[in-house]
Amino acid sequence: MATFGTLSDRLSETFKQLRTKGKLSAADVDGTVREIRRALLDADVALDVVKAFTATVRERALGDEVNKALNPAQQVVQIVNEELVGILGGQQRRLQFAKNPPTVIMLAGLQGAGKTTLAGKLAKHLVKEGHTPLLVASDLQRPNAVNQLQVVGSQAGVPVFAPEPGNGVGDPVKVAKAGVEQARRALHDVVIIDTAGRLGVDAELMKQAANIRKATDPDEVLFVIDAMIGQDAVATAKAFQEGVDFTGVVLSKLDGDSKGGAALSVASVTGRPIIFASTGEGLDDFEPFHPDRMASRILD
Ligand code: GDP
Repeated sequence: MATFGTLSDRLSETFKQLRTKGKLSAADVDGTVREIRRALLDADVALDVVKAFTATVRERALGDEVNKALNPAQQVVQIVNEELVGILGGQQRRLQFAKNPPTVIMLAGLQGAGKTTLAGKLAKHLVKEGHTPLLVASDLQRPNAVNQLQVVGSQAGVPVFAPEPGNGVGDPVKVAKAGVEQARRALHDVVIIDTAGRLGVDAELMKQAANIRKATDPDEVLFVIDAMIGQDAVATAKAFQEGVDFTGVVLSKLDGDSKGGAALSVASVTGRPIIFASTGEGLDDFEPFHPDRMASRILD
């Protein structure tokens, strides 16, 4: 994975230096923590997240668990690993399904974040798991969005509910609501609602997304964020959390050469788990997110 390449290299260089030492002095720990801090900041991880992270690593690294360890340097690496898993959300969080189907999943995020692509990926993934999803085209902003959803729907072998005369043409909230009703009638057990995004956060977009949320009462609202947006990630995530609120995060474009800061900040600043990672343009470039595996990749 290209993302995290530089961060990963820098951390491994820092640990290599550390491994040349036997017992660690406070100065060794401080030097290491300083390097980790620089590497994270250069990877565009949010300052608050970096501060909290390095403070915890430092405190633990100066404590008994390292002092008494047979291999102190290895113990520090282990601590960094555990704390990384922590900022990535700790335990894996699976998609939550409604007790009474259909499970409603709403997608939200900026334009270009990868929502429509994700809708197809998620639909295909759910079909593989034995579900019968329906895709709902509530992105009526972008001229080609409905068509694009129809394309990914047909690739995934999943039907798409799109606005037609009588379906509430032009009104994304009505289309979303009608889509859920259609799913109930046609016995689809999951509904995935694609919504509109703008290039930047704006009030009208938030209101529309909030209205779709209110009208469809989703079980999951997934905030899709492009890992490439770097330092803007935190502000964007917070704006969506305030405006719509979401239950989980999907990191998209993790295959790109972003520095990884968004990935490392978003779960921590929003307190919402990362549920999926998107790693390419194809419908199979998608995986459930495992904080521990991601931490291992970074520290590889
Ligand atoms: P939306 O506006 O949020 O619906 O975004 P789209 O799903 O249309 O995606 C925007 C662009 O990003 C498209 O060209 C997609 O093919 C591309 N894209 C989406 N997800 C990924 C991903 O995980 N990796 C890469 N490399 N490209 C992606």
